[in-house]
Amino acid sequence: MQKIEKKRIRTTGYGLDLLSALASCSSTILVREKSIMFTQSFLTPQPTGKFTNFARWPGRRIAHCTLVLLSTLVLSACSDNDDDLLNSSQTVSTRASGMLVTTQEANGITFHTLTAPETQFANSTHLIETENSLVVFDTQFLLPNAQDMRAYADELGKTIDRVFITHEHPDHFLGSEVFSDRPIYSLQSVSELISANGDAEVVEKQGDFGAENIASTYVVPQVVSPGTILIDGITFELEQVMDAEAAVQLVVRLPEHGVIITGDIVYSGVHLILAGQPASWTTALENLAASASQYPIVLAGHGAPADPGVYDVNIAWLTKAAELLATVDNGQDFKQGLVDAFPDLTMTAAIDFVLPLLFPAN
Ligand SMILES: [Zn+2]
Repeated sequence: MQKIEKKRIRTTGYGLDLLSALASCSSTILVREKSIMFTQSFLTPQPTGKFTNFARWPGRRIAHCTLVLLSTLVLSACSDNDDDLLNSSQTVSTRASGMLVTTQEANGITFHTLTAPETQFANSTHLIETENSLVVFDTQFLLPNAQDMRAYADELGKTIDRVFITHEHPDHFLGSEVFSDRPIYSLQSVSELISANGDAEVVEKQGDFGAENIASTYVVPQVVSPGTILIDGITFELEQVMDAEAAVQLVVRLPEHGVIITGDIVYSGVHLILAGQPASWTTALENLAASASQYPIVLAGHGAPADPGVYDVNIAWLTKAAELLATVDNGQDFKQGLVDAFPDLTMTAAIDFVLPLLFPAN
């Protein structure tokens, strides 16, 4: 605990420094060809034979208030979708760290979603508050946000039963250091990928974002198998989904509460990072959509909590992206096509990030 307390102090006033780091990183990444340690798990063949590398996303300075406004709109839409499972009075607030906190209740338990600012990848992590415990999904990317998430969890005053890492991308496990005193689980191949690539991710991300923003250590998760488990009397259904945004993705359903935690199969209110193949990713979304009526609360890997309407938006985005990949020959047209088709989505940096990889000649 001493370690965590000490680091929590370092969160004070990090915002400006981080924005500077992101801004300088943004311009640096776009112009340089450094000999980087590409992590195999983030090199995913695209239909064109090109690659995306999730590890190199230049952050952009876009007003956080846009995300707040968008999230408010999303939440308003959610509240129109009430059914028997929902006893939702959703509340939204902002932490001093800049993270957006959305809380909502479903059938007697409380779901807390902490979403990083759009300039910091809008990573969403979820805390499920049962009667006696907390279950955490993903650990944030940047260390100050991870620390603030841990602080938020501690403020709730309940034992953190366990942490799940939904997939192996660095923005989901690099904050795991702050939960190193608690059991952390993932699917087997996710654990193996984190074990194989974690050290390189730390070195690379510290280089990009600064050692003050990326934890020096991380936790290789214990292995959990797909299936149904009970935590504090609540049913959690764990499913392994292949070849969506990531090669392997944990999806968790709480059938008694109508809540689904999708990881990065779903991006909510923001542009997608094209880190997987549109066709197989779309199939994964269609499979989630098939049970939409049973799961009115969708907790995404990026962006605010959503309703099942988010599946169609994601599918439409991937369809458009695939169409553009087949018809345009430069990054500007690719980006403009997506921005024009989805003017309500924020975080266009998600598109910028993949452009050098999709269109290396530009
Ligand atoms: Zn992610």
